[in-house]
Amino acid sequence: MAKRLSKAEIRRRAIDIRTTDLGLTEYDRLCPYDLAREHGVDVHPLEGLVAVGCPEESVIFFASERPDVWSAALVPAGAGQFIVENTAHLPRRRRYNIAHEMAHVLLEHEFDRVMFSAEGRRGCANPTNKDQEWEAAELGAELLLPQAAAYKAAKEHRTDEDVADIFDVSLPVARWRMNGTGARIVAQRTAAKWAKFRRGQ
Ligand SMILES: [Zn+2]
Repeated sequence: MAKRLSKAEIRRRAIDIRTTDLGLTEYDRLCPYDLAREHGVDVHPLEGLVAVGCPEESVIFFASERPDVWSAALVPAGAGQFIVENTAHLPRRRRYNIAHEMAHVLLEHEFDRVMFSAEGRRGCANPTNKDQEWEAAELGAELLLPQAAAYKAAKEHRTDEDVADIFDVSLPVARWRMNGTGARIVAQRTAAKWAKFRRGQ
């Protein structure tokens, strides 16, 4: 099996996807719906599945899958796939989960089932493969809030709430990125170094 991608490689891919597919810099807000459209992946609201010709059994199946838990699902369909979103959930949760499912698509992960994602888990509730799940969690998050943007926000003393608003992500995701990427620590160390330098002058 392929080796798990490094964080550096995932960051590189996120930058490439942002620039090439959407014309965005690392500091711009990304719309995961635009990303899905760009890759020909349809996003259907759960309640609209019947209208797009989805068999009623599938709709019942989705509705039975603890709708309080999942926000988006990636559904294999022929050679491609589509996404179903749970519109009962808040937009920021859905954005996160659509970015996560798109990360699976962009990384060309193979899966043999419907993948359900729920933000509390930072990914799918039923992963087929731990490494792939980790990669999709990292890429999905990196797409929404790149490390470079997290560093910049920390340097500018933005609160987690500000960061959540700027990038249109939930507060737990903003908090996770600001701490998980090391952005806050780097900013604090840099500030401390400067303070020491100035005291020494
Ligand atoms: Zn996943």
